[in-house]
Amino acid sequence: MTEDFSRAVAVVRSVRLQPDRDGPPKGGHYILGRLIVCVAVAAVAMTGAALGGHQAQTAAPRKQVLAWADVRNGYQHDSISHAVATIERLGRESGAYDTFIRTDSQLITKHPITFPAGTGIAAGEQFNVRNLNDFDAIFFFGVREIDLSPEQRADLLSFVKDDGKGFVAAHSAATAFFSWPEFGEMLGGRFDEHPWGITDGTVVVDDPTFPAMRHLPRTKVFHDELYQIKEFSREKIRVLAHLDASRLDLTRPLVHRTDGDFPAAWAKTYGRGRVFYSILGHGADDWDNPALQQMYLQAIRWALRLVDGDATPHAR
Ligand SMILES: [Zn+2]
Repeated sequence: MTEDFSRAVAVVRSVRLQPDRDGPPKGGHYILGRLIVCVAVAAVAMTGAALGGHQAQTAAPRKQVLAWADVRNGYQHDSISHAVATIERLGRESGAYDTFIRTDSQLITKHPITFPAGTGIAAGEQFNVRNLNDFDAIFFFGVREIDLSPEQRADLLSFVKDDGKGFVAAHSAATAFFSWPEFGEMLGGRFDEHPWGITDGTVVVDDPTFPAMRHLPRTKVFHDELYQIKEFSREKIRVLAHLDASRLDLTRPLVHRTDGDFPAAWAKTYGRGRVFYSILGHGADDWDNPALQQMYLQAIRWALRLVDGDATPHAR
């Protein structure tokens, strides 16, 4: 059986299995009508298959994601290579987006990128060069102070704030740019040590309706390096999940919070753009956890505006 024919059969099956959301009561005429629709859809799908699947070409262009993992000035998590590879695969398999993986910060600009003489690219020639204007969202797994010019910093903030693009950040992203207050404002919180090291943490979902949380049970144990977050305000971020403080040793020396408020994932807006962050993702194997994969995939889909979710801040 050809792939196209399989797809046509799948289309018919999906039509048959579709729930009746707001259709009329199921009389005999209605069921007959649906049967005709099924046959018609099958005919269209199979015609498309016979033509070589040309109907697929009319689909909207895929979103573009820049996976940005510049770690030159800090600790490189062993997980980062596998994390960005996983993000790329999830986008590819879901059809939601294409990913450009970069471990440098060259593309963090809205200005034309030029090359020095002798690189084989003539001065002024735009040889398949992309910059922020070509992307719909950034997946960020950087660390500490990354060398960006003032112009690059302004362009990065504007990418989210003015252009309404997305910024999804993982784990050590909260350690980035401590010297840059506006970045902290965009992200919504800062790393404040990991007092418990790598251990089991009970994550409690605050907002089960948010796309990145829908697949999770009310509580779920993640084996990860559990971050304590500082400089966040629940008046500015929507905490989607938090660590169950009753299961953490709060007498550890590096525990600074006295209110037991330890966010594990949040969403917020920054200007016109959408921002998501989660503390999870320290270990390479963590990125094989379907629960973690779904969280980041759905967060990216939300940041790309492929799905909606309420990022309105709420009290604890
Ligand atoms: Zn870590």
